Amino acid sequence: MSFLEVSDLTVAYGAIQAVRGVSFVVGRGEIVSLIGSNGAGKTTILRTISGLLRPVSGGILLDGEPLHRLPAHEILARGVAHSPEGRRLFARMTVEENLRLGAYTRRDEPGIKSDLERIYALFPVLGERRGDKAGLFSGGEQQMLAIGRALMSRPQLLMLDEPSMGLSPIMTRKILETVRELRDSGTTVLLVEQNALAALSLSDFAYVIDLGRTTLSGTGAQLLADPRVRAAYLGDG
Ligand code: ATP
Repeated sequence: MSFLEVSDLTVAYGAIQAVRGVSFVVGRGEIVSLIGSNGAGKTTILRTISGLLRPVSGGILLDGEPLHRLPAHEILARGVAHSPEGRRLFARMTVEENLRLGAYTRRDEPGIKSDLERIYALFPVLGERRGDKAGLFSGGEQQMLAIGRALMSRPQLLMLDEPSMGLSPIMTRKILETVRELRDSGTTVLLVEQNALAALSLSDFAYVIDLGRTTLSGTGAQLLADPRVRAAYLGDG
């Protein structure tokens, strides 16, 4: 059984159908990417899995249990965390205050403290500057903080929306290397990226989303070698 199973998902904003019958699966312990151009529907899919949007039709199962009728806080409690596009940090709050927001449903202070230390070990710059305001950080550091905040709920499934957006190639590599470490330590990752090369290089499996539909799928390596993917998303041809 797949850990996350999305079947025939349709999501609309009023009359605009942003997602039109998308199906995909994510196995436990995998990195699975959704790639595709601007406006393809990727963000909408993540927001629907998180419970921020309701599907028109279709289903979302986590470990065999339906998620798509649950409120967002219940979906978070089931172990699904979402690091949104654009990071959405609180610029005037410190690193530590932003991280603690990710643990707002938790009451176990010793567990929260040990998770803060784990995130500072993963991203040392956050530990060194834990008392600084988030707004003072570079784009890459803010992305680390957004991922760290999502990790504070101890997710089983971590969803990352465009973590490479606005980052230098070196910083992109560093962030994606951390995503690989998280997968290797047991977190399942659903990654949305416009940077298809970076995402496919890292993914166990990936799906191409185009105009609200899944058009191609395969392992990261298969899609990297696929001439259609190369022409449309990797700047070849
Ligand atoms: P991006 O990477 O730019 O976010 P995406 O693949 O994530 O692209 P979505 O943001 O999910 O795509 O958008 C899918 C479609 O839904 C687009 O046509 C977009 O214009 C439309 N859309 C997104 N948000 C809204 C909204 N709040 N109201 C109306 N239409 C929207």
